[in-house]
Amino acid sequence: MKQTPYVGRFAPSPTGPLHFGSLVAALASYLDARNAGGIWRVRMEDVDGPRCRPEHARALLQSLTAFGLAWDGEVATQSGRTALYGCALDALRARGCLYGCACSRREVSDSALDGIEGPVYPGTCRDRRLPWEGNAVRVATRGAMIEFQDRCQGVQRQALERDIGDFVVRRRDGLFSYQLAVVVDDADQGVTDVVRGADLLDSSQRQIHLQQLLGYQTPRYLHVPVATNAAGQKLSKQTLAPEVNPREAIRWLNLALAFLGQPVSSASTPQALLAAAAQAWNPARIPAVRALPAPLPALA
Ligand code: GLU
Repeated sequence: MKQTPYVGRFAPSPTGPLHFGSLVAALASYLDARNAGGIWRVRMEDVDGPRCRPEHARALLQSLTAFGLAWDGEVATQSGRTALYGCALDALRARGCLYGCACSRREVSDSALDGIEGPVYPGTCRDRRLPWEGNAVRVATRGAMIEFQDRCQGVQRQALERDIGDFVVRRRDGLFSYQLAVVVDDADQGVTDVVRGADLLDSSQRQIHLQQLLGYQTPRYLHVPVATNAAGQKLSKQTLAPEVNPREAIRWLNLALAFLGQPVSSASTPQALLAAAAQAWNPARIPAVRALPAPLPALA
């Protein structure tokens, strides 16, 4: 039987420089792809307009290069792909699973029960037949039970309607949501394996729901622990995560390998280190937890 070739990806949002958390996600997806003899793509997720900047995208690519993380093919950029998201929206509309929603954030939180990620939209506008223009567009989740096996975190289940609720696929201001864009891009780029931080673990069911409605294949998922600071917050631009220094690439790559439970290397170039690490890559050694403290002394 012919196996589908492995296609993986790293999909950063260009909102700041590469920090330890994003290096871990990049490294895990790179090593998983290379270990499988697969393709590794990079995609800039700049769909969330104002926070994303071209200079951050350029700096991220420079850092990846300095760390020896060489990608295959062209870098895809979401802002250049909105026509594709529009087509997916049309396909969902044709299936009758979208509706306009005029509720403000405040109205939702006042009338909703809390779910996995805050207030669960109670379906107020579902049957109101509101126009899409000037309103958010939501996808109905009626009765959807989604289960998948994560390669690191084990079986994941959500009763989508109860745990998350009908979610937004196009915002009131016309921007497509991350959930829709990521599903369309992964399918369009033939991604077979999504390897990313476990902060997105609970988004996977929303993405699988959209894949099912759109008739796309569901990729395999591997969610690695997210790196946290001393206060237990995810390292990010908002929590002032320090940038990783590409001039100390070997040190940082070894710290990221250790964080992922993989053997460290005494190689003297990033390329040699990555080749050895790809060969030795064993996802079973990744700690099966959602978050782990970053090696803070090294970050100081
Ligand atoms: N752009 C997302 C982030 O930087 C990652 C999306 C994904 O890997 O699916 O957090």
